[in-house]
Amino acid sequence: MIRVNRGAKPEGLEAIRKAEVKRLAAIVRGAPPKAADFGNRYDIARRVLWKAQGQTCCYCERRIDRLYNDVEHFRPKTRAHRGGDRPTHGYWWLAWTWENLLFACPSCNRRHKKNKFPLVRGSRILPVGHSPPGPERALLVDPAGSDDPMDHIQFVPLHQAGKKRKWIPVARGGSRRGKRTIQVLKLDRPALVTHDGGHVSDLVDHHVKGIRAAIDAGDVQAAAKVWQAALKKLFYPRQAFKALSYDVLDHHFPLGTRQQWGLEPYRP
Ligand SMILES: [Zn+2]
Repeated sequence: MIRVNRGAKPEGLEAIRKAEVKRLAAIVRGAPPKAADFGNRYDIARRVLWKAQGQTCCYCERRIDRLYNDVEHFRPKTRAHRGGDRPTHGYWWLAWTWENLLFACPSCNRRHKKNKFPLVRGSRILPVGHSPPGPERALLVDPAGSDDPMDHIQFVPLHQAGKKRKWIPVARGGSRRGKRTIQVLKLDRPALVTHDGGHVSDLVDHHVKGIRAAIDAGDVQAAAKVWQAALKKLFYPRQAFKALSYDVLDHHFPLGTRQQWGLEPYRP
């Protein structure tokens, strides 16, 4: 997971938000809203978010199509399972708020995250009608929040005898929020780990070999050249799995080596 920069709120979204929140407020007065009550006025947000996220899922970083994937609500709109015996009402008033919208694949959004929104122990709940985060402390890492997701989640190689090396996400430095985010989104699900592994073996390893050869030959200029070529390929805006690529480079060429050779990876 990498940091998402949504950019400016798209023109027209505020008018939709005002009208839709007013409509929902009337529904909520009678009974808790259902998913269908939220309608489908998300096309403007969908277009802008898909582009801003480099056409990738905000959580798993897979490349995704604009039409068949979801505008995702970081704070769930219909119901929110916050952990323990906390109330489970959703954040309906944030359903069209730009700062609450992301773009995600159905596997992350519908299959794993769903309505889960665990809070830090002792955290207050954001009062109805208020802007996030307020006094509320989420356990999930917000890709567009104030923290860099890469400070909480790290990819490490897993060696199993007789098997191809896998790269799996773990909590960086024991981050509780990183751990919980991996758990809730199931970022270590087998299908994703296989995708990640393919990305490393098909693409990143090729660059690692080139950089390693230049370093082994003691050729400073060649090392800088292949390093730059790797950064250009691995971190261009629409490339998938950038956090993974960063950690693979960091694994093979740790800080000491990079300093010695004047190589610094682009931080996505
Ligand atoms: Zn995803």
